[in-house]
Amino acid sequence: MARAWHLKSRPNGMPTSDNFELKETSLPPVGDGQVRIRNRWLSVDPYMRGRMNDVKSYVPPFQVGEPLEGGAIGEIVEGKADGFNPGDLVLHMGGWRDETVASARAVNKLPNLGVDPQKFLGVLGVTGATAYFGLLDVASAKQGDVVFVSAAAGAVGSVVVQLAKARGMTVVGSAGGREKCDLVRSLGADQVVDYREGPILKSLAAAAPEGIDVYFDNVGGDHLDAAFALARNNARFAICGMIAGYNDPKPAEFRFIMRVIAARIRLQGFIVFDFQSRMDEFYREMGQLVTSGAVHAQETVVDGLESTPDAFLGLFQGANTGKMLVRL
Ligand code: NDP
Repeated sequence: MARAWHLKSRPNGMPTSDNFELKETSLPPVGDGQVRIRNRWLSVDPYMRGRMNDVKSYVPPFQVGEPLEGGAIGEIVEGKADGFNPGDLVLHMGGWRDETVASARAVNKLPNLGVDPQKFLGVLGVTGATAYFGLLDVASAKQGDVVFVSAAAGAVGSVVVQLAKARGMTVVGSAGGREKCDLVRSLGADQVVDYREGPILKSLAAAAPEGIDVYFDNVGGDHLDAAFALARNNARFAICGMIAGYNDPKPAEFRFIMRVIAARIRLQGFIVFDFQSRMDEFYREMGQLVTSGAVHAQETVVDGLESTPDAFLGLFQGANTGKMLVRL
């Protein structure tokens, strides 16, 4: 028998552990073209909160009573598919469970970059690709730019900080609490703002007195509004996520949004999967930065399938630095 976390009920506002249920499930026999995978690492990500709502988005909602899914790295234990052998490590979407049977077409062998496998859920996975394409492509960030990145101690943010520094930018990062701010500074940020200490607008104005050229938005709300207020002419905003609003039914208020016009700000939302066809470039560039030590893979690891909902809920309480991972 396998075990899988199911959606027990939809949350209203902040989710709780009552919204999840761990159940035993029997796995089908492995058919032609399929593999059985024993998971080693599970990813929990803020976007999964959106999938708990019954709304149409770029990924379908989770269904009540059905297993949750998400990024995972596992080992093939049985296979009836060409090119896949027991012992192979694969990346796939059958997370939130210990074992699964999947079509070989839906799983990918890990690229051979000589790094720990869980990096392909973080700095060399969706997280890193979000930072890479969001910063360099969506925001067209370049050497000399002043870049503001929110949730800078988190998975995506911590990569943005390091990538921006590696490309010769000046970086202002925001995070919650002194320890996280120290971490962001240790990753190379030139200025760090603790948004829990006071209004973000005031601290960002002090940290970037000449204004900002790029905003990499992970938070939305007051962080985005402060970025509007302090944007230089022709600033570019990569709108990656708005975690401040995921559990808050109140609409955000923007006092400075009209600066979009006067400062000719370019705002671009994006989904990392838009860049799927450029993953070879990403593995080459980011792989080199990681193996050379220019980019450090910050991770928070919790152990055991039982801990998966807590790891997920922790994202909304700032329990993680870097990528939040569950090790099985
Ligand atoms: P993180 O690792 O950054 O985890 C979330 C962090 O957000 C927390 O540690 C916490 O840090 C901060 N946070 C939580 N609640 C709030 C709040 N109310 N106000 C301010 N900060 C808060 O997650 P990821 O790096 O995986 O994701 C970062 C963002 O990027 C998310 O918004 C996510 O949805 C988005 N995303 C978008 C993708 C895309 O394709 N567009 C792909 C991947 C992620 P602290 O303690 O500092 O507050």
